Amino acid sequence: MAEVQDVSHDLGHLEWETPLFNQAITQFEQALPHAAVGDAVAERLRFPERSLVVSVPVRLDDGRWRVFPGYRVQHSSVLGPTKGGVRYDPEVDLGECAALAMWMTWKCALLRLPYGGAKGGIRCNPRALSLNELQALTRRFTSELLPVLGPQQDIPAPDMATNEQTMAWIMDTYSMQVGYAVPEIVTGKPISLGGSLFRHEATGAGVVMVIERCFQKLGTPLAGQRCVVQGFGNVGGIAAGELHDRGALVVAVSDLSGGVHHEGGLDISALRSYAEANGSLAGYDSGERVSNEELLELPCDILVLAAREDQVTGENAGRIQARVVAEGANGPTSVEADAILGERGILVLPDVLTNAGGVTVSYFEWVQDIGRLFWDRNEIRAKLADKLADAFDRVWRLAEEQGLSLRSAALVAGIREVGAALTSRGIYP
Ligand code: NAD
Repeated sequence: MAEVQDVSHDLGHLEWETPLFNQAITQFEQALPHAAVGDAVAERLRFPERSLVVSVPVRLDDGRWRVFPGYRVQHSSVLGPTKGGVRYDPEVDLGECAALAMWMTWKCALLRLPYGGAKGGIRCNPRALSLNELQALTRRFTSELLPVLGPQQDIPAPDMATNEQTMAWIMDTYSMQVGYAVPEIVTGKPISLGGSLFRHEATGAGVVMVIERCFQKLGTPLAGQRCVVQGFGNVGGIAAGELHDRGALVVAVSDLSGGVHHEGGLDISALRSYAEANGSLAGYDSGERVSNEELLELPCDILVLAAREDQVTGENAGRIQARVVAEGANGPTSVEADAILGERGILVLPDVLTNAGGVTVSYFEWVQDIGRLFWDRNEIRAKLADKLADAFDRVWRLAEEQGLSLRSAALVAGIREVGAALTSRGIYP
């Protein structure tokens, strides 16, 4: 069984080395022998280019002050500006941002988008903050990040517990500093500010486009497949709806409050309306309640992981009863779990491919903003489907040719693109 590698070296412990960063590095090392990049390039890519740690003071509604740690990590600017989400979560730390930034680099390169990877966030409990407090937090965080943000430098997007409104506050704060409106500083913003049609749905819809392509390769129709979806936010909620629209049977969904299960299939639009109105699935009274742990182990054809990292681990991978695991979230499957699922013949559709719909339509949004020319929804959906199908087919072929898992093949494809560009540019100076 594969183990998380010891990434220690003669430099001692590096600030961003945490279990999640070690997971990203282990995956990188596993892919590297197949990626044909030189030692110097590989060594350069093991390190994020730039990490910024800030502290964000906020005056709470009751008059007290609190200071929250915030982070932005830019992994690689070889191919263009860095791109990546901003998350508000109690578990955000430098290592998490570094791991997610590295995955973003491979994802953008795999999709052949002219970007490198970044990620950022604030360690806080967003559910305990009011809208006013979240606005103050976001605006001050943006101000602290001003020296490293820019439409040609680093472009934020939504991630866990951030949304269109958060992006609007970032866009406004940045625009106020430079003195004119800069919609292209963020993606995933409201349509009224230059956001793109279909961006809101892009990640979840992209997950299902990748699943559909996979089932085409397997020669099995997607209609009628039994699906379980963990996470019912932007990615999971949309993915569940898209699966339902294609005739698949969504038998269980969950969020932080736990899961809802009904063997005959759930009413996804009723669940989405309920979650929107009530903030979560807590109290939904149709179907049987299950815990998140139980939900992951339900028998099904497709398990969509759309909550957060580290959900399928060495501990529970042996009990997963899906045929295909689709990673809508980033890093939901540990290195140990990956090996166990592989040995058990369970196909894992890896995050860097499966959830790439979000950054792809973010790229479309940035291009539309820069060109001041906007596309219609059907055009965007079709362009996204083309991009994902092209990336999927390259990954599938590489996996077959080289006997790799789909994850390793996806990483190899991404690393090769970045490696070739860095080799041509040379390592400065
Ligand atoms: P979100 O905040 O909209 O939704 C997260 C959902 O997961 C919520 O329903 C939450 O209750 C649930 N959740 C959190 N912890 C859980 C747990 N331990 N068990 C079960 N459910 C849990 O966030 P999102 O934007 O949907 O992001 C989800 C994942 O997808 C993250 O890993 C994110 O990095 C990844 N992702 C998001 C995008 C995007 O465009 N939003 C793009 C690519 C990848």
